[in-house]
Amino acid sequence: MIKIAKLISGSKISAQIKDEVKAQIEQMKKENDTVPGLAVILVGENPASRVYVANKEKGCAQVGINSETVRMEDTVSTDDILAEIDKLNNRDDIHGILVQLPLPQQVDTGRVLMAISPDKDVDGFHPVNMGKLVAQQDCLVPATPSGIIEMLKRENINLKGANATMVGHSEIVGKPCTLLLLNEWATVTVCHIETKDLKMHTKDADIIIVATGVPYLIKEDMVKEGAVIIDVGINRITKDKASPDLLEWRKEDFEKKGATLIGDVDFQRVEPKASHISPVPGGVGPMTIAMLLKNTLKAAKMAVEKK
Ligand code: NDP
Repeated sequence: MIKIAKLISGSKISAQIKDEVKAQIEQMKKENDTVPGLAVILVGENPASRVYVANKEKGCAQVGINSETVRMEDTVSTDDILAEIDKLNNRDDIHGILVQLPLPQQVDTGRVLMAISPDKDVDGFHPVNMGKLVAQQDCLVPATPSGIIEMLKRENINLKGANATMVGHSEIVGKPCTLLLLNEWATVTVCHIETKDLKMHTKDADIIIVATGVPYLIKEDMVKEGAVIIDVGINRITKDKASPDLLEWRKEDFEKKGATLIGDVDFQRVEPKASHISPVPGGVGPMTIAMLLKNTLKAAKMAVEKK
C-alpha cells in the first residue's frame, strides 16, 4: 500500500487566519475608530520584489488594512530611505512599516532596518524585537517563522519534547524559527552550510524545517518514517534545468509559464515517508502574508493601547 502524507495546506490555514484578522479589524473600527495602516517601501524594479509587494497589497485589501507603497528609484541613498522611514514613523495612521528586501548595494540595509520604530516593525527584523524574542517577551515576530509555528499548531503537531531540526540559520527564517521552537519546548538542532553531515541531524528528527534555497537538499534517505516536513524554500526551475521527473510532474506549469516553483525537499520521494508535509507552492508562502497582516493588526492594537 502506498502511504500518502497529510498535506499541510498553508493556503487553507492562511485563509482562516485572514478571516480572523478581518473580523478583529472590523471590531477595532467600531470600538476604536481605528483602521490598521501598513506602509511598504519598495526600491527599484526587482520583479520578485514587485510581485511580493503586490501580494501584500492584495492581502491588506482582503482584510481591510489600509496599505500604501512608497516607490523609490534604485539609485536611492540610505539617507533618502531613512527620511521616508522618519515620516512614516511619525504618522498616526501608519501602524506597520516594512522595507522590501533586498535593497540595492549602495544602501546600508542594517541602518535602514534599525531606523524603523520597533512598534511599527511588522517584519520583526529590528534588534529590539529580535532581543525580545530571545527574552520571550511579547513582540512583533518575523512572519515566516511565526507562520511555520502556526501551521504546526493548527495541525495539532506536538512540539513539546519533539526533536526538531532547523536547516538554515538566516535572520529572517532559521534563527527566529529556532527560538520559537525552543519557546514551545522542542529540542532543536540547527544546521547550516558548515554542518558536516546534514543527514545525521535530519534522519531521526520528528520535525524537519528547511529554509535554504537549495532544491532537492532533503532527500528520502535523510528523513525518518512519520516525520513532519516543513519546506520553506522557493526555487524557480526553468524548463531547461528540470529533470524528466519534474517536467512530467509539473507539466502544466512548464507548458504555461516555462518554469515551476519547488522547495528544498525532494517532495515526490519524501512525501510517502512523511506523516505531514507542506507543499511548495501553497505551503509556507501564503502563511507569511497572513502573519504579516496579523502583525499589522497587532501593531495597530499596541498603538490604540498606548493612546
Ligand atoms: P538565506 O540565503 O539568507 O539563508 C539560507 C540558509 O541556508 C543559510 O543559513 C545557509 O547557511 C543555509 N544553507 C545553504 N545551503 C545549505 C546546505 N547545503 N546545507 C545546510 N544549510 C545550508 O535565505 P532565507 O533564509 O532568506 O531563505 C531561505 C529560502 O526560503 C529561500 O529559498 C527563500 O526564497 C525562501 N523563503 C521563503 C519564504 C516564504 O514565505 N515561503 C520567506 C522567506 C524565505 P550559511 O548562512 O551558513 O551559508
